[in-house]
Parts: sequence; structure tokens; C-alpha cells
Amino acid sequence: MATNEETRQAVRAYVDYLRDLGVYDLYRRGDAPAVSKIELESVPEPVVAAVAAQVAAREARPVQSTVIPVDDTPPIEAFDQPIQNKEQAAMPRPVSFDLLMPLPAERVAPAQKAEALQAIQELIGDCTRCPLAYGGRRKIVFGDGDPNAELMFVGEGPGADEDASGVPFVGKAGQLLNNMITAMGLRREQVYIANIVKCRPPGNRTPEYVEATTCSPFLLAQIDVVQPKVIVALGGTAATYLLGVKQSLSSLRGQWYGVRGAKVAVTYHPAFLLRDPRMKGEAWKDLQRVMAELGLKAPQKPAN
Ligand code: URA
Repeated sequence: MATNEETRQAVRAYVDYLRDLGVYDLYRRGDAPAVSKIELESVPEPVVAAVAAQVAAREARPVQSTVIPVDDTPPIEAFDQPIQNKEQAAMPRPVSFDLLMPLPAERVAPAQKAEALQAIQELIGDCTRCPLAYGGRRKIVFGDGDPNAELMFVGEGPGADEDASGVPFVGKAGQLLNNMITAMGLRREQVYIANIVKCRPPGNRTPEYVEATTCSPFLLAQIDVVQPKVIVALGGTAATYLLGVKQSLSSLRGQWYGVRGAKVAVTYHPAFLLRDPRMKGEAWKDLQRVMAELGLKAPQKPAN
């Protein structure tokens, strides 16, 4: 007869196997609530139908990729590099937002984007789908900005200020992000800002794989609604999950990637720039590439 340890290992191996197949939501048999099931009843029709289908499709992974070709976009195989260290070995291979599910056949019209985003927020509800719901979270930080923005910023996850306010990037890192946006000739209300996870990880730790991948379908749905031309991945966590890679930030900077029909640029997280202001010049180079792509001009400095 199998020992407890052997049974445990067999179950672990089976769960790993399912995860390799892209199955993450595992339910107990019986009365235990299927907390990952999305309640669709309360969601307004009809704008949300496409969004709801995308989120539900997450459970039917793996699906075929419909990667949108973007000039100079390295093929996804280019990221398929050998696992290099213990931390990477411990983390399952992330799946890029393009491979998670196909682009919706019908795009949400500009006039309906605000309503569609609201519908996604309602789908999220008082979410208990991942452990972050139980880690002292106060507010779910959905996202903020213009539903028709051409430029989207994606960070890692809320900190204490965001957890208290429910708005992304309002703390010190947020102030720096605001300055970066202003330097690009834009106002914060003209861009859209969201995070890989919508709940604050305890102690501001990096989100765990299961937390990031449980939250991903909602960010993906937000991107599909907003349809930005350019997404700026702020820091390693955003880059890892958007692109489905685990590589150093410096190796990812300076190139364009294609995700959900948008061009993605990778740059330093504002919190990192606060710790190491010498890197602000490098981040500015990244933002200037984004500005060139969007035809933006830096505002003139007032003459003295
Ligand atoms: N850091 C993030 O990554 N996101 C926020 O919203 C705030 C700080």
C-alpha cells in the first residue's frame, strides 16, 4: 500500500501535471464552494458577453495562440530559454497574455468601453479566487484611467496606499509615475493604469505565480476592452506575466513585443527608480521610444 508520503508526492505530481496543461482551478468534490467560478448572473448584458467569454475561456486552456505580428517582435520561442537559477526552477513557466486565449472576434466599441470595464469589475466582485483575498487586503485595486487610452501602464500590484484608496499608483511610486506621464506630454487621466494583481500582497512582497495567473484573465480582459496601442510594463513582474517570460529586465528593455494587439515596452518600475534614481535616464530612454511610437512630444519647459 502507498505510504502517505508516496500519496502526497503522487498528488503533487498530478497537480503539477495539470498546471503544465494550464489547469489552475482545482475544486474539492462535495460542498466546498468553487471559489474561482465566475458569477455571471449579476452582470449587465450585452456589452459584457464577450468579456465574460474571455474570462471563462481561461478555464478551457490551453488554446491556440493568435499572436498579433508586430514589427520586430521576437518570436515566442526566443524566450524559451533554459531555466537558469533556483528561483526560476521553482516557478512554473509563465504563459504570455497572447497564449492565454485568442483575441475576441469582436472588439468593444469606444462608446461601450467604460461600461465593459465596469462589467469586468462586477465579475471580479468581492474576489476570493486567490490567497491575496485572505492576506489583509482592504480594497481591490481594479485599474484607473481613460477607457479609450492609447497608452496603458501595467505595474506589479497595489501597495499600502493603493490598498487603502482602491486606486493604482497613488503612493510615492505613483507620484513618480505621474511625473513620468507628465514628462511624456500626457495627463494621468489620458492613460490607463492597472497591475498584474489587484490585491495588495502582504508586506508588499512579489505576487506568487498562482496569484498572478489567477488575476491575469481580468487584466487581459481590461486590455482587450481598452485596446491600447502601447503597453508599458513597469518592472520585472509585469514583463514576466504579460510576455510569458522569466528574463532579466535589462535583457527585455529596448525591444518591442506584441501582446493582445498592442506593442509592449519594458521599463523599470517607479519604485525601483526611487531606490536607484541613477536609472531614471535609462527609463526616460524607454519612454521616449514609446513617445515616438505614439507621436507624442515632450512639453516645452517654460522659459525663465
Ligand atoms: N506599485 C505597483 O506596482 N502598483 C501600484 O499600484 C503601486 C505601486
